Amino acid sequence: MNPTSDERPRATSSVLVINAGSSSVKYQLVDPAGGEAIASGIVEKIGSSEGSVSHKFEGTKTQRTVDVPDHGAALRVVLDLFSEIGPSLADANVVAVGHRVVQGGSLFSGPVVIDDAIVEDIRGLIPLAPLHNPGHVRGIEVARALFPDVPHVAVFDTAFFQTLPEAAYTYAIDAEVAREHGVRRYGFHGTSHEYVSKEVARVLDRPLEDLNTIVLHLGNGASASAVRGGVAVETSMGLTPLEGLVMGTRSGDIDPAIVFHLHRNAGMSIDEIDDLLNKRSGILGLAGDNDFRTLHELVAAGHEGARLALDVYVHRLKKYIGSYLAVLGRVDVIAFTAGVGENDEIVRRLVMRGLTDLGIEIDEVVNDVRSPEARTISPEGTKIRVMIVPTNEELAIARQSLEIVGAQG
Ligand code: ADP
Repeated sequence: MNPTSDERPRATSSVLVINAGSSSVKYQLVDPAGGEAIASGIVEKIGSSEGSVSHKFEGTKTQRTVDVPDHGAALRVVLDLFSEIGPSLADANVVAVGHRVVQGGSLFSGPVVIDDAIVEDIRGLIPLAPLHNPGHVRGIEVARALFPDVPHVAVFDTAFFQTLPEAAYTYAIDAEVAREHGVRRYGFHGTSHEYVSKEVARVLDRPLEDLNTIVLHLGNGASASAVRGGVAVETSMGLTPLEGLVMGTRSGDIDPAIVFHLHRNAGMSIDEIDDLLNKRSGILGLAGDNDFRTLHELVAAGHEGARLALDVYVHRLKKYIGSYLAVLGRVDVIAFTAGVGENDEIVRRLVMRGLTDLGIEIDEVVNDVRSPEARTISPEGTKIRVMIVPTNEELAIARQSLEIVGAQG
């Protein structure tokens, strides 16, 4: 049983988790022991005088328009809100600042305490993550200046997938070109895939080493992974987060020759095609909206594009599940997570349908029950257990930060 809030031990230390993007900074103050988000928020439209901040503390959301010309201004707004509205960062005893970094390339297979050399490494990876790493570097530089007395830790989205076998991460292109330009599969959402695969073992009270799990992280971005005994052996994202599953606005897998075709025959520039495939494709491209709640409303109203979008999404997921069954040879658990995976019973039902002969089934009544808890939705005795396991990337970053700081301290 969970302790009531009165009985729950007060946080003795906390970790400030920062996810700095190109024009936004998300933050969460986490109690790594209890797993609670003490406060959280987001600053958006950095670079504009019409920026916004939203800060959540003790069930109250404070929203304001703010002048945020740069990341420094954004983080100062956040600090002012902590002072004005709470919680006091001094009382919260912040022992580390954990930074989410999307691309760690082949350099990082776990979290690292940030020093000047690490900042340069993350900057050096900008060609591999032009949309993400510049914002991370700016966020880290500003946060280090504002919190000079606590260690800062970088936690990489790619780290968990550094264990992928060569056969899984190698693209079959000219080896010299690939080596020279770092062209290989890195995988993303690793913090979530690692957290969820460990949660599966914890919830089932089984040794992680004994479990083979397929994790389906279905958010606005979406990715699948195959995890053997806690070690990632396959994942759907590649050099960038564009590869793999159909996503909210990204195409996922396509024939790469579509790029040449659009360039040569539709006269589209490389930047336009980049924008098309990353921002105007996926569910949005097919249905006109990338929120699954709207998608289902459109399907119910007879919208043909929405029906096709859902069919394509489900079909792609089934293909990945089938291929990961073959890659792993034996699968114990399929775990759904993230916004769609945790909340969308229709997607889960459609994806799991017709797989009985493979030992995969769900109880459709249990599947329809909403709950924030990790739970099993397959009937007792099915060969492969199907679960919903809520992800918590901020908590995972906070815990990894604390662990590495403790290990070095
Ligand atoms: P990300 O972190 O990639 O932005 P999330 O994991 O927060 O994404 O997932 C966001 C998506 O989850 C939304 O775009 C929406 O499609 C989907 N979603 C959220 N809540 C529900 C719900 N109740 N039912 C169906 N889909 C939902």
